[in-house]
Amino acid sequence: MINEALLKPKSIVVVGGTEDIKKPGGKILKNIIDGNFKGKLYVANPKMEEVQGVKSYKNPGDLPQVDVAILAIAAKYCYDTIKLLADKKNTRGFIILSAGFSEESEEGGQIEQAIVAKINEVGGSLIGPNCIGLLTPDYNGVFTTPIPRLDPQGVDFISGSGATAVFIMENGVSKGLSFSSLWSVGNSAQIGVEEVLSHLDETYDPQTSSPVKLLYIENINNPDLLLKHASSLIRKGCKIAAIKAGGSEAGSRAASSHTGALATSDVAVDVLFRKAGIVRCHGREQLITVGAVFMHPELEGKNMVIITHAGGPAVMLTDALSNGGMEIPHLEGPKADALLEKLFPGSAVGNPIDFLATGTAEQLGYIIDACEHDFDNIDGMAVIFGSPGLCPVYDVYDLLHEKMKTCKKPIFPILPSVINVKDEIDDFVAKGRINFPDEKIFGDALCKVYHIPKPQPEKIDMPDIDTQTIRQVVENADNGYFEPVEVAKLLDAAGIKRANDKVVNSVDEAIEFTKKHGFPVVMKVVGPVHKSDVGGVVLNVRDEATVRKEYERLMKIKDTYAVQMFEMYFGEEIFIGAKREEKFGHMVLCGMGGVFIEVLKDVQSALAPVSKQEAQNMIRRLNSYPLLKGTRGQEGINEDMMAEQITRVAALVYTAPEIFEMDLNPLLGNPKEIVAVDARIRIEKD
Ligand code: ADP
Ligand code: MG
Repeated sequence: MINEALLKPKSIVVVGGTEDIKKPGGKILKNIIDGNFKGKLYVANPKMEEVQGVKSYKNPGDLPQVDVAILAIAAKYCYDTIKLLADKKNTRGFIILSAGFSEESEEGGQIEQAIVAKINEVGGSLIGPNCIGLLTPDYNGVFTTPIPRLDPQGVDFISGSGATAVFIMENGVSKGLSFSSLWSVGNSAQIGVEEVLSHLDETYDPQTSSPVKLLYIENINNPDLLLKHASSLIRKGCKIAAIKAGGSEAGSRAASSHTGALATSDVAVDVLFRKAGIVRCHGREQLITVGAVFMHPELEGKNMVIITHAGGPAVMLTDALSNGGMEIPHLEGPKADALLEKLFPGSAVGNPIDFLATGTAEQLGYIIDACEHDFDNIDGMAVIFGSPGLCPVYDVYDLLHEKMKTCKKPIFPILPSVINVKDEIDDFVAKGRINFPDEKIFGDALCKVYHIPKPQPEKIDMPDIDTQTIRQVVENADNGYFEPVEVAKLLDAAGIKRANDKVVNSVDEAIEFTKKHGFPVVMKVVGPVHKSDVGGVVLNVRDEATVRKEYERLMKIKDTYAVQMFEMYFGEEIFIGAKREEKFGHMVLCGMGGVFIEVLKDVQSALAPVSKQEAQNMIRRLNSYPLLKGTRGQEGINEDMMAEQITRVAALVYTAPEIFEMDLNPLLGNPKEIVAVDARIRIEKD
């Protein structure tokens, strides 16, 4: 838990504070002093009476009451110190910088657990261990630099890696990104990324809280908590981007189905982020750039104008934006002509607007004004302005700064000349602006942000299903694949339409099925998991003689103990599956069957439960979507019914978490119906 003592301490002790500012205990003390911490500051150091001008206690037992303790001492001494401070000094906020805990050894892990238990016992907060600390408006509780000037409207940054946090801040600060807080959660022994997000959510105040959160995550320990608070913050108007590093394939190895192979744990992260509305980033540069886009006014539409004094970057940005699904609308007509009049001969206003290497600040002003007021088909502006190093460009960047204050449409400054006009860029950044030095990285980030879906509602409407029957079937089952009878019960209870079928044990029974349902029929082996692979599926059986012959043949196939008779259906092959991912719940996948899933891996996924809207979005994101809709005389499928089936599969696995994986492969769909003709469901109870 995150408490007042940790965030707004009236007193801090640095345990292991030293004169040597090359050591964490020395540097953090210096950072706190330099940050003009308003409360009382102490050091605990067995050898010193004063450190960096701060009173030092040789014995921590002599310290007065103190709200926060920052520990920069060896792991093995931490527990005793914490116990003393927690029990005797009313200390309720702890930051352990030291390494040597669960990340290093089992023994370290035990110490870590004991520390957490002690701190929990007194209702305290713990940041770390194995971290760089905590940076809040109240104190510079980190031992690293740079220490950005904190701005309440800057980024709240939470990082599972201390070093990465430093590199991200260095990069961000140099571009002008401002920060509001830094939480380096280290081993996340008590407080992890999820807990910080819940704190930021629970204390969110639209007037004063920062609207932007950036996360660097290596482990998601509590996906539900992350989803709950990230989506809640986003619904309140926040923007969140995150790196999740370290995708593991371990989960998918255990799986034996298509779903299993495609639904890796990294896909689970994707679907979690999508459900929450978090922009997933890959790499520091992208995270910073997305964060910087967040700090600008939101784009209301996808029409961008590119304003430039250099051709190349404008071409690259045009490519990046168009490839990313944005529009670069052509500008023409009297207003465009009037603008062109004001520029040097040879300029172009079609979009990109190129006002040439000789273009002036005054001309840039005309262009921005025209884009703001004259062209309704423009939602945002990207201004590319560097310098070959011949003369200063203060006037241009000053103008840009002024226009950014008054324009309603967002303006994104791309200032590539980080050496030639370094001073001008520094000056621009000092005014609180952010630079995007690279147009392609900017363009990709802008597209990413623009296309991120809104978070799913907190309560997802699930279709009506027969929960009682589902629970009953699942609770009575052993681990492994369900028999066809149970599969049928589950699908019926979930309202998933399946083919008419019957498992038969004699030729006579098989013939009886054809009398009842008519020809053609399909015959399949019961027993083998992959039926076609063993020659165990016969389609389009049209007479009794074939039924007899195939029955005999099928029964001879290895592992076969019965034959399943089906009505034959016609339509496009669709696939819907689900797989359980540890801690995340179930991922639900869909796509077109056959080569689309096997070769092209064209699938989309979401985290169960899945709303109808989410299911529709999944279908529309498929590359094969145009085929599903029907092309070239093919009639396609009923999209609404497919979405409905997806929500039902999601509801089924959500109701029965014991289901490890399930495959409806295929369902056959046409405009009138969608019917599952092959279903596999595997149970795995802990
Ligand atoms: P498996 O996946 O075990 O190999 P399936 O039951 O999926 O076996 O059958 C293989 C293929 O046969 C399916 O992908 C589908 O194209 C076709 N098929 C199966 N059952 C039917 C049916 N009832 N009507 C029409 N086609 C079917
Ligand atoms: Mg199949």
